[in-house]
Amino acid sequence: MKEYTTVIGLEVHVQLNTISKAFCADPNKFGQEPNTNISAVSLALPGTLPVLNEEQVSSSVKLAHALGSNINKENRFDRKNYSYPDLPKGYQITQDKLPICVGGKMIYTSDGQEKTVRIHHIHMEEDAGKSSHDLHDKYSMVDINRAGTPLLEIVTEPDLRTAQEVHDFISALQQLVRYLNISDGNMEEGSLRCDVNVSVMPSDSNIYGERNEIKNVNSKKFAKTAVEYESKRQIKILESGGTIDMNTLLFDPIKGTTAPMRSKEEANDYRYFPDPDLPPVVLSDAFINECIAEVTMLPWTAKSILKEQYALSTYDTDLISREKSTVDFFRQFDLPTKSYSTLASFISNQALPFIADHQLDISDLNVSNISEFITLIDSGKVSRSGALKALSAQVLIAKESNLNIEKLAQENNLIQSDDQEFLDAIIAEILSQNEGKVKAYQSGKKGLLGFFMGQVMGRSKGKANPEVLNKKLVKALG
Ligand code: ADP
Ligand code: MG
Repeated sequence: MKEYTTVIGLEVHVQLNTISKAFCADPNKFGQEPNTNISAVSLALPGTLPVLNEEQVSSSVKLAHALGSNINKENRFDRKNYSYPDLPKGYQITQDKLPICVGGKMIYTSDGQEKTVRIHHIHMEEDAGKSSHDLHDKYSMVDINRAGTPLLEIVTEPDLRTAQEVHDFISALQQLVRYLNISDGNMEEGSLRCDVNVSVMPSDSNIYGERNEIKNVNSKKFAKTAVEYESKRQIKILESGGTIDMNTLLFDPIKGTTAPMRSKEEANDYRYFPDPDLPPVVLSDAFINECIAEVTMLPWTAKSILKEQYALSTYDTDLISREKSTVDFFRQFDLPTKSYSTLASFISNQALPFIADHQLDISDLNVSNISEFITLIDSGKVSRSGALKALSAQVLIAKESNLNIEKLAQENNLIQSDDQEFLDAIIAEILSQNEGKVKAYQSGKKGLLGFFMGQVMGRSKGKANPEVLNKKLVKALG
């Protein structure tokens, strides 16, 4: 069999977190009772007119800025005409010939390597309502609530090559829209959905094959599975002497397969034309600059700050930079450089699970308590694991009150003892109670050291400093 390369390009739909819908004042809210979040405009009653939402434009400008896209200072809306029960107007307002942003690129990491995907363009549009065909045995159900939700569609060049890259690219984009605070990026709720275009070509070729487009994929895992399945399917056809027809496909999440939705011949002709109800969008430099000024931190700047200023490992950097709120929180601390990795693991192992369980924001946590706690742990006066176990919850719960951490550690008997006589006495006691094991150790079973460490540690109630104890034990046993 020949070697093949898979080529993938994405059309990503991002629902924006604006207060109101794209062209009217209906709240832009998910999860409402069906057909309650509507008005004359979203129902397209005669005589209604759309009014552009400035927030949709500012979100576009922020994304363009982050991706280095060119902003069309004059852009315009078009009508995409098709008929469907969840589209009351009979057309979708979108941008066809003159979108708001053109070009740009996204740099992301996959498999530990930096990858680049070029952006073809980004355009503004509105979502349609939602049809459900499985809620009733006889009828399809239509919910108009979603109609008019503002969307940005990001169209990439066909620069992706593997299913894993598609997964990681979507993750990176999700992270970016959250940093920009233009969308919650929540794929389960449909805030981020992709059309995945897949083709294959012999690896020694540079001419792209015919593509198939998998519509409306709403999870990273599904996108990955869909690409894997689809490229295998296409390779099989080519290997058996067939050709690929350009089709629109649907992904079946249960079977993990794709199936045809429509062929090229059945493709819609949308008869795009400029929407006469909306004037061209004209952006001033002042407006663009205002939008850009609101972009205070991007995922990649956060990562380089964490690595360079705080000397975090790549692993810790990735954990802390996942969300902007975590980075903002982290940067409030003023600790010796070596303590930031302790802080990073405290945040990811203790603080983040804690706030998730208690439905808190990270900004609710008390920086000064945590700061003292990290300092105490790194001082070596307490056992790290003992202190984390005994005090983490108390440190995290105390939102408003400033704790006396050192006192708390004393009360909880956590201060480690370097007291020579105290330790020597316990060691002598343990050794005399385990003469058999002492002999075994001395005749070569060095693994028993762990046993003695455990015994002494237990009897000292965790107060022995492990390093000191280790040295003392080796000496006593030898
Ligand atoms: P249209 O939908 O208007 O035909 P394009 O042909 O430019 O638009 O492409 C739409 C999407 O398909 C883009 O994301 C692009 O990267 C992707 N694409 C185009 N050609 C291929 C190909 N041969 N293989 C995989 N993806 C492709
Ligand atoms: Mg398309």
